[in-house]
Amino acid sequence: MIVVAACDDRGPTIGDDDSATPGKDDRADLPTFVEIDATRPLSTSARALVDAAIGEIARVAEAGRTHRQKRLAAETVARLGAGDARIDTLDDARDLDLWHMCRDTSTRPGCDEDEPPPDGAFTGDAALWETLAAELDGYTWGNRLYFDLDDEALDPEALAATLVHELNHALNRSECWYYRNYWAHEVDETLAWLEEYRAFVAECVFSRGTAATAKRCDEVATHDLEAREYGLTPDLAALVDDPALGSVAIAEALLAEDGVYGWLVPAAEVWPDDFAECE
Ligand SMILES: [Zn+2]
Repeated sequence: MIVVAACDDRGPTIGDDDSATPGKDDRADLPTFVEIDATRPLSTSARALVDAAIGEIARVAEAGRTHRQKRLAAETVARLGAGDARIDTLDDARDLDLWHMCRDTSTRPGCDEDEPPPDGAFTGDAALWETLAAELDGYTWGNRLYFDLDDEALDPEALAATLVHELNHALNRSECWYYRNYWAHEVDETLAWLEEYRAFVAECVFSRGTAATAKRCDEVATHDLEAREYGLTPDLAALVDDPALGSVAIAEALLAEDGVYGWLVPAAEVWPDDFAECE
């Protein structure tokens, strides 16, 4: 697995001759990622945590138990390495990403208008940052993945699974489907449920190897949605021909990779062309 970041500041600059540096070639082969805002670099510990999580995904890409599991992991590493999806700490969120985060908080401090602010105008106040710290562990908008990377409870294994989950949201542009009214952030329970269900099935494929059957991943995704209190009640009749079959029909379609309910594997061929605000 060879992935080199598109513009990672640790990597060798083109034209540099690093051939004499022992171990340099090994390091260049390590999977890596691109920060959303490189002008505010991550702390050493935050960067080490993300590196370790991506290293864990790369390990699954090599040693996974099924072809699908390995492909899912390898493509996740590839998208992150290419900067197709980018990572940063929650504290570095700015502008519209910060505004969208604000809209998804319980009290919407400073963002209670349904109209978005002009580009670059939204900075957030102390009340917002306090609310974000209390309510969010991470947030994904488009292909920007933000996490509380200073949370000492966050370990590389947990972050690896979460990266797979969040990258699935980016792959399927979940933010474009999640809301009945996009700028108002009015959640459509059925469509939002599908976005989360799919992301949890992706996590299941990544984590469970040969056990990742449609039935098992349906159980796991349903359990995760309940345990983490998403509070989404889908109208299955709006999603499947025969709702009596239950949500497992959706897991089957996802594992068949027919695209009917979106995609599980973040392959370059199905990766979105852009991440502009949704229509
Ligand atoms: Zn999610």
